[in-house]
Amino acid sequence: MLTVTNDTARGPLAHAIVDTLVHRIGKDEHAALPHDWLAATILTVRNEIVERWMDSTRAAHAAGAKRVYYLSLEFLIGRLLRDALANLARRDEVAEALAQLGVALPELEEIESDAALGNGGLGRLAACFMESLATLDLPAYGYGIRYVNGMFRQRIDDGWQTELPETWLAHGNPWEFERRESAYFVGFGGEVIGTEQGVVQWVPAEAVEAVAVDTPVVGWRARRVNTLRLWTAISLDPFKLDAFNRGDFQGALADQLRAETLVRVLYPNDSTAAGQELRLRQEYFFSSASIQDIVRRHVQYFGDIRTLPDKAAIQLNDTHPAVSVAELMRLLIDHHDLSFDEAWGITQKTFGYTNHTLLPEALESWPLPLFERLLPRHMQLVYAINARLLREARKADGVDERAIAAISLIDEGGERRVRMANLAFAGAHSVNGVAALHTQLMKSTVFADLHRLYPDRINNKTNGITPRRWLQECNPGLTALVREAIGDGFSDDALKLTALVPMADDASFRERFAAIKRANKVALVHHLRDAMGLRLDPDALFDVQIKRIHEYKRQLLNIIETVALYDQIRSHPERDWVPRVKLFAGKAASSYHNAKLIIKLANDVARRVNSDPSIDGLLKVAFVPNYNVSLAERMVPAADLSEQISTAGMEASGTGNMKFALNGALTIGTLDGANIEIKDHVGDDHIVIFGLTADEVAAKRADGYRPREVIEGSKELSQAVNAIASGVFSPDDPNRYRDLMNGLYDSDWFMVVADFDSYTAAQRQVDARWADRDRWRRSTILNVANMGWFSSDRTIAEYAREIWGVM
Ligand SMILES: *Cc1c(COP(=O)(O)O)cnc(C)c1O
Repeated sequence: MLTVTNDTARGPLAHAIVDTLVHRIGKDEHAALPHDWLAATILTVRNEIVERWMDSTRAAHAAGAKRVYYLSLEFLIGRLLRDALANLARRDEVAEALAQLGVALPELEEIESDAALGNGGLGRLAACFMESLATLDLPAYGYGIRYVNGMFRQRIDDGWQTELPETWLAHGNPWEFERRESAYFVGFGGEVIGTEQGVVQWVPAEAVEAVAVDTPVVGWRARRVNTLRLWTAISLDPFKLDAFNRGDFQGALADQLRAETLVRVLYPNDSTAAGQELRLRQEYFFSSASIQDIVRRHVQYFGDIRTLPDKAAIQLNDTHPAVSVAELMRLLIDHHDLSFDEAWGITQKTFGYTNHTLLPEALESWPLPLFERLLPRHMQLVYAINARLLREARKADGVDERAIAAISLIDEGGERRVRMANLAFAGAHSVNGVAALHTQLMKSTVFADLHRLYPDRINNKTNGITPRRWLQECNPGLTALVREAIGDGFSDDALKLTALVPMADDASFRERFAAIKRANKVALVHHLRDAMGLRLDPDALFDVQIKRIHEYKRQLLNIIETVALYDQIRSHPERDWVPRVKLFAGKAASSYHNAKLIIKLANDVARRVNSDPSIDGLLKVAFVPNYNVSLAERMVPAADLSEQISTAGMEASGTGNMKFALNGALTIGTLDGANIEIKDHVGDDHIVIFGLTADEVAAKRADGYRPREVIEGSKELSQAVNAIASGVFSPDDPNRYRDLMNGLYDSDWFMVVADFDSYTAAQRQVDARWADRDRWRRSTILNVANMGWFSSDRTIAEYAREIWGVM
């Protein structure tokens, strides 16, 4: 890629890139390595972005516009170059300029590292939202942490997950701007004292300085460029320390907090609360810096802190930033001299809170002694907020002591804990779920008592995905076909994809549609051959389950069904089996034993199945390592079948489900999360639904579910479970899966066993549909045509109108 071409063939953009290479990177063309070309390209493109960025900021300022602040401990951004070039509509031009330099743009795009500052769906949602906010021309800031090590890199060694640090900053990050001038003190510990004037003052024992690092976020057609502001931490220098002591606070600062540790790691968990002191410190660190920044900007632009709710909408992405409620109260009362009541009114009007999980183990709460030691002033404010909340509750009808205990910000059962979800609920004017079923369950389960007290607060905002990254950029073949068929309107309004509906009945369109899917599969086959030595048949049905490994997502159900299918193929080789490729990918939290064992099981099953010549390649299984945004962008367009098989009632929404359907895969899924709404949009005939409903799951659990009887009553299931339990797939360690399988016999909390027969039947129904090619292709086209509603532009427009008041 480094052949230097003759100078006369070069246009101005090529010259600009070389100029950047020489003057900013300090390399000449002969010495430049691929990463140097990448950095030179990004820095060159960035100039244009920066100009639009400043225009956007100036325009918002001049208009006195209300700003949206999206606070999230995770932003799962992935790569940015292709996304930025596509949204600027400059990709062809840049590719041409690089070609003049003998450099291939796709190869540069491929070596950019994934910004993996998140675990999974919650972080990816934040990234899609940032892009849609800019696309809809809404002035917005994302606030989070600039982790030095984002999500770990997963390597598979002998079938086991190994976690390696992800060094995404190894080559620097040409997208970001460090803003040393935008820096705030964040204190921890110490004590609260009353001064002579009767004002309360918090004297922290430790402090760090939070420094802003800004990344521009380019919207579609570069209508607007917003800011993703991630905080890094530095130790206070002695001069600033002195100012800190004399200014805001009296008293001496003891040990300085070691700043680097605060931003070193992303906690490798979702769906479970992390529960470590460092995690609470991270949450307060980024919340405090963000709220200080928001308050500072408001006062600077508008003068009067009392108008904050008119000019700022702060959205809390789950409870990780919930301490922001207490932090804003602290600033309003202690620094801006407002009364408690006035501060509380402003706080509630400013915040919205998005809930992402109903799993009790994932609801954040902090041991009260820890919270009080780290944040003594916030503890006082939490007590004061709680007193007010419980006073209001006691005035309402029918609120008994059980309800009071459930509403309280403090969990008094056992070790006392601060409930972050209740704090976020109390401190926000809007509390939203992320899919219709999830919102309904919020009202009837975790927030039932708070909902009775504040019946207007809970609302639904079904998640979405940005169709730029998840259709146009990851699936250029399909995008070109759609554009040719129905024009370009869908790229500004995804709902216009419905113009494809009649095309589903056009045989020649179906052929071309299918040819593109096949080409995407061939590209994936080549990638997997090169990356892991796999040999796959692109004409087989590609059955894909890629997402975090978690028991509620039920990769185990899929693996057990795979074992049962393998058994059936061997027992009945004469039948007309549909050739299948089962693909898995996903990371397990490092401390999650069963999830890691499930990865090993997928690999053990793959080894056995793939090396059995008797099934004649009818079934192949592979676990693809290191699932991340870039791998999703590769695998989603190549999928025929999308596995969305969580235990009903446990997946809040899902967004992976949306990516697949938008790219023409059929969904096999339970009536859970957004699957229900996907079914409503694509139509019952174009999705395969199976299994217990959320109500049935709850009823079964309440009735005393006996999985052992179910297993013993199903020949196929007991054969598969017993084969795994007895070591058929793990001859080197026959007991490896004994406990995992015993768990199914004894408790089976996730209802794998209860749903097995229904799932197997659904899979055979998939086979039958696949065998009818025209019918299958028709369904896949209708999926694409009807998925426009799941654009995150629609989701953000709903937040903007109904929660933030900015549209
Ligand atoms: C979309 C996405 C997710 C969320 O997937 P679900 O199937 O909804 O859990 C997780 N990780 C990555 C990298 C994604 O792109």
